[in-house]
Amino acid sequence: MSFFFHLVTLLFGLPSPKMGHWDELCLLCGISPIPPNGIYTDTAYGAGDLAEKLIEYDPSLLHDMELDEDALQELLRTALDAESSDGFDWFTRPGWRWQGFRTCIAIGHFLSEEDDTPHQIVSTDKGYMRRVPDGQEVETRLVKDANCGEFRVVINRTVDGKGNMVETQEGKLSRTASSDYLYGELARGDGFGNFFLSEGCYHYLRAWLDFNQLPEPQHDRQLNFVGELYEVVNSRQKGRVNGIGILPFIDYDGIERTLDQTQYDIAENLNIPKCTTASIRRGDPPEELLDSITRDCRSWMFRAPDMWPVADDEQIIKYAFAHFPMTTIPSDTVKPFPSSVLLNIAQFSDSVVTYFTLARSSKRLYNTLTDSSFLNNALKSMASSPSGCLFWVRPVTTMHGEEKKAYDAISTFLLRTASEAVEQDSDSSPLSPFGYKDFPWYYFVRRCFESDSMINRKRIWGQVKQLKGIWRDYRINGWEVERFGVPLK
Ligand SMILES: [Zn+2]
Repeated sequence: MSFFFHLVTLLFGLPSPKMGHWDELCLLCGISPIPPNGIYTDTAYGAGDLAEKLIEYDPSLLHDMELDEDALQELLRTALDAESSDGFDWFTRPGWRWQGFRTCIAIGHFLSEEDDTPHQIVSTDKGYMRRVPDGQEVETRLVKDANCGEFRVVINRTVDGKGNMVETQEGKLSRTASSDYLYGELARGDGFGNFFLSEGCYHYLRAWLDFNQLPEPQHDRQLNFVGELYEVVNSRQKGRVNGIGILPFIDYDGIERTLDQTQYDIAENLNIPKCTTASIRRGDPPEELLDSITRDCRSWMFRAPDMWPVADDEQIIKYAFAHFPMTTIPSDTVKPFPSSVLLNIAQFSDSVVTYFTLARSSKRLYNTLTDSSFLNNALKSMASSPSGCLFWVRPVTTMHGEEKKAYDAISTFLLRTASEAVEQDSDSSPLSPFGYKDFPWYYFVRRCFESDSMINRKRIWGQVKQLKGIWRDYRINGWEVERFGVPLK
């Protein structure tokens, strides 16, 4: 190796090992615009890898099931190759490879196709740094056809005379890569400038950020939503993770491990092979074993977040908790807070789990908090405002067609008598089934927690909350680093 190579390596870090095509991840949800279509690319390798993890997790598995490692691998290989009984590929079923993850919103400053984004590389005490324009005149583009963190097609949507959405596409490069492959001068880790979010995440961010709760900005420039978002992302000390696209100060719960140049497989999203081990111990057939493997790989993190559960006719009964019989012993008759105060406390619970933990703190409190009518009101209030911990169960208006889709499903939860009722809460949309007085909130919320799609929605809601923390810091303290000021032209 030449002296020159060593010098270059010393000064600028190792050259990027990536070659050919690679993908970058949405900075909010950690999903690639080309979402996964399998568990392992190579089944034989997968069976070996999984067998190793299972034995490590459950050392007596082989002995108890009278298997040797080869037989276990064979079992896993058959499962990984299993076809579902309905003949559909698992990863093309409804809810997989969601359109809202595949089309993206590119955000930043776009020049002509050949040009790079406006920037200057300047020398500082700590090395070279990329300077970019500020958040004024930031544009958004609806894009698709991702390649190496950039997008090659711009989608134009218009509404025709009849109110239908018309979509046209244009081949045009939108630069959003976090990679520094264009800039030999930069040390690795510089991921500043344009970026992208999946289209779904962009709309959820707009709907859930709740600007009213943010402090007033420190600047007096007129910045719109994307302009501020651009500055929130680019004014940090650290930029997007080079070549991956995610923000280093947000926790993605390990989903980023699935990016190995591309995010075609989800095996790296496995934490504990609990379901798979149980499935083998039960002697499940291959298709069910495959389902368990998929669950262990936390496949819910990739599911479309807009599939609301429907009520199960058989189960749509009024849920009722058993209550403690109350004695008249004086110490027990001490009244807890009045119901109105309790309801207020419930409204600000940080999670449903906290609510039930509170309920378990005394028999009297348990009886009150699990009383059907009280519980219904409590859950309803948690879902009523953006600061409530269940606000994510509601559809957003920023996503075209989401309200109708949600309400069609949610209306199945209305009891027959209730659905005939016309009484609506004054603050709810006339279409919303949530407005009915006897909407069975507890049953509905339970079903949401059982749904992969809804749990992923809750995850994205959590990602928005994390970004909101950074946004709040930006509003209070301004830029962490002065990186702006490059002219647009
Ligand atoms: Zn996303």
